[in-house]
Amino acid sequence: MIYFDYNATAPVMREAREAWLNVTEKIGGNPSSMHQFGSRAAIVLADSREKLAAYLGCSPADLIWTSGATEANNMVMHHFARKLGPTGEVWISAIEHPCVFDSAQHYFGKRAKLIPITTDGVVDVDWITTEMADTRPGLVSVMAANNETGIIQPWREIQAICKAYGVPFFTDAVQFIGKMPCSGLGECDYVSGAAHKFGGPRGVGFLKIPHRSQITPLLFGGKQENGRRAGTENVAIIASMMAALEVREKQISRSEHLLRKLWRDNFEHQFLRTLPGASIIGLNQPRLWNTVAAIMPDGDRKHQWVIRLDKAGFAVSTGSACTTGKEEPSHVLSAMGFKAALAVRSVRYSAGWETTEADWDALIAALGKVHAEAQHGKA
Ligand code: PLP
Repeated sequence: MIYFDYNATAPVMREAREAWLNVTEKIGGNPSSMHQFGSRAAIVLADSREKLAAYLGCSPADLIWTSGATEANNMVMHHFARKLGPTGEVWISAIEHPCVFDSAQHYFGKRAKLIPITTDGVVDVDWITTEMADTRPGLVSVMAANNETGIIQPWREIQAICKAYGVPFFTDAVQFIGKMPCSGLGECDYVSGAAHKFGGPRGVGFLKIPHRSQITPLLFGGKQENGRRAGTENVAIIASMMAALEVREKQISRSEHLLRKLWRDNFEHQFLRTLPGASIIGLNQPRLWNTVAAIMPDGDRKHQWVIRLDKAGFAVSTGSACTTGKEEPSHVLSAMGFKAALAVRSVRYSAGWETTEADWDALIAALGKVHAEAQHGKA
């Protein structure tokens, strides 16, 4: 079975497993304990925080460990709901992940205004500039890269606009971190990330908050994380996450992702030749090097492709893993202006650092075969 669903989750890399085992076996203490076991755990935690801060370009004190990005993203919306009160308004891009989208809807309802998306799948920066001249929201939230399309969003530009107007800016960088360099993300007021998208374990992530500021906790009952998130820190999975990020940052610094982008681009070229009537979403936009979001040929619904490819030995997805199973058009494609009939034909192929050129070649061969069989079946 060849795995093409890395945007849903990635396999845990060897270095991350070893780091987890090492801390689990050698560092048994609770980082809040006063004895030597506790101090050793606290040192691992502090080292991890320093490492992450250096990658992002922020202070270690700005970082809170969480159970993943869903928690971090909910924490941001919960915090702003408290901070802004009953009249406060937030702007979120129309293509945010459900854990930002639904959380904003929950806390703000109609006061969560959607930032439109261009037909190219990019957040409309002109809309932000024009609107901001009139109104200042309490928060702007735009993800760094979209999980369904892989399209990289102009987060640096939006961060600079927000900074100029004194509006806090939040970016969900879950899909960006570990595929693209982290540097500069620390400039954003709030940033979230999750280890399982870049080869770390599931169930761990972080939230970066503005320097020296406080955040309204979601969880109470302990003074961990400077009173910002109660609960004993899971030191081993945090160290494991950082081991994975270290490997990814090294690979990125050696430009190893550029070769992988080439393989993906070659695949797309062949894909369009092999499957008449198919198209690739955001083909000419800056995209993550691992993602292909495609509209499959007419007449074939996406679930049929996912099932047929699964039988042929390839794990692909219908879009966001969290919305898999529902035959509704994705909110991302709807925001881009895709009609439902077209949007339900979308299939996502997302590779990872471990994916080889031969894997892409095998996928194209399987797609050709599956398509031919489907055409034959119809005749
Ligand atoms: N944000 C984005 C863009 C995602 O792709 C995901 C996971 O699919 C999440 C947030 C949620 O992350 P987690 O699984 O760590 O809760």
